[in-house]
Amino acid sequence: MEREESGSLGSLREFNRERVVQALRMLGVASRAEVARRTGLSRSTVSSIVAELQEEGFVVDRDSDGRPATGGGRPPAMIALDPSAGLAVGIDFGKRHLAVAVADLSHEILAEAWREMPNDYGAAEAIERAAELVEGAIADSGAPRDRILGVGMGLPGPVHSTGTVGSSAILPGWAGTKAADRMTERLGMEAWLGNDANLGGLAEATWGSGRGCSTVVYLKLATGIGAGIVIGGQLFEGAGGTAGEIGHTSLDETGDICRCGSRGCLETYAGGAAIAALLSRSFNQELEIEDVLRRASGGDPACRRALAEAGRHIGVAVANLCNLVNPERIIVGGSMGYAGDLLLDPLRESVKLRAIPSAVEDVEVVLGELGERAELLGAIALVLHEAGPAWSGRAPVMQKAATADTEP
Ligand SMILES: [Zn+2]
Repeated sequence: MEREESGSLGSLREFNRERVVQALRMLGVASRAEVARRTGLSRSTVSSIVAELQEEGFVVDRDSDGRPATGGGRPPAMIALDPSAGLAVGIDFGKRHLAVAVADLSHEILAEAWREMPNDYGAAEAIERAAELVEGAIADSGAPRDRILGVGMGLPGPVHSTGTVGSSAILPGWAGTKAADRMTERLGMEAWLGNDANLGGLAEATWGSGRGCSTVVYLKLATGIGAGIVIGGQLFEGAGGTAGEIGHTSLDETGDICRCGSRGCLETYAGGAAIAALLSRSFNQELEIEDVLRRASGGDPACRRALAEAGRHIGVAVANLCNLVNPERIIVGGSMGYAGDLLLDPLRESVKLRAIPSAVEDVEVVLGELGERAELLGAIALVLHEAGPAWSGRAPVMQKAATADTEP
């Protein structure tokens, strides 16, 4: 195939190739039309780039169910990156769990492991335990280590764009650490760190309830409340990486002082910790949000009422967000998502009452599809997003071009 090697046409082609590869990284198995929609390139440009990538062995055919195309039968409608061309490792540091997974480029999970963790676990011990789990998962998956593109990590706390963890009520011992750098040192692989709500949003937008939507907001409702905003398939992180802190939307400027220093934050009314504290007083015993959810599903009226009121409060903050961001879908995840419509119905009602009518018309409030795996899968998506182009199919082509064009 003839390629333009010099000038702006050549570099435009190279740029478009990268966009196609990037789109396939995020979509996994996709049709050419989906790739065109995702990249904004024309169908014919996508088809010609895909043909080139197939010839070079970086893209393979899939049948319409996403399985490897066998030839014969229905014509292959779908394509994917060659799964063996790279692997991604994901790590989710939860409030009381640690999860790791290894996935290939067709987004198939090859190995996965979960461990319970003690409350308030520290960064150093958790990084070591995670590294051991990763080594085990890599061995289980049978994946060659040199094919691993990197390690994505999610954490329930703010992560500044410099990679430094901000102060977090959930894992306070992590503040100020550069967890990704430590993991890189430990494993000898490139690592990236993201906020858990952001990663949950990335995963739900890529593979879950938000797939195919233009603007998605993921709400992680657990001990705290966070949001991940995904616009056009890209995470919106703001200037310093802290966008989406919806839990600190002030609902009452004379309300209780929040741990963040403000007053009347949503989290002080509707965070899992706040709800559990409220009901612990009512029942005169120490309850956790999981206990509240269990009692509510068993019909306990006090727990049901607390969750319904939380839904209404969350809806107020979400209505404001709808006016500002105009999302197509609000996806509810985190442990409080298990309350289902008990929480979601009052939340929807509150959004309907308070957001401007045109924003209400556009938005749908749904449960996440990925459940407790959303953050772990998001950590894998982070690698697919961030890993450099060296493995994307570009490097071998450049080598080929370099031998063909020995320019002085
Ligand atoms: Zn606050």
